[in-house]
Amino acid sequence: MIRYKLICKKCDNSFDSWFFSSDEYEKLKKKNFLTCYNCNSLKVEKTLMSPSIITSKNNIETKNYEYKKIKKKIRDHQKFIKKNFDYVGDKFTYEARSLHYKNKKNSRGIYGTASKDELNELKEEGIEIETIPWINDNIN
Ligand SMILES: [Zn+2]
Repeated sequence: MIRYKLICKKCDNSFDSWFFSSDEYEKLKKKNFLTCYNCNSLKVEKTLMSPSIITSKNNIETKNYEYKKIKKKIRDHQKFIKKNFDYVGDKFTYEARSLHYKNKKNSRGIYGTASKDELNELKEEGIEIETIPWINDNIN
């Protein structure tokens, strides 16, 4: 994608517009598809400036980078939880209740799996739970 700054010779309005390529700009210009959104004039020219270019490749790499950063955060979070909490698997709802109602002091937190309905029930009972994104270690 290329961004051009366009200027209307009639009303002096300038605006940015995106094109797939410089060829596209020329084509649209020839077909009189380029108009000023302010006064509808066809006297729209691109101003002389270096265009900003985003290739789709760059775009994908940026996204991957962001994804990796997020993934690392989740993994760090997971590491912390695995170290400080006890894994109870699908007994999470049961264990969460017993922890809550027995009011065990100084007991470690727990983590495990529960369905959305189960989590809602726990919340209604006033049990503090937090859901976090989880990455399975065997999936990359
Ligand atoms: Zn204009």
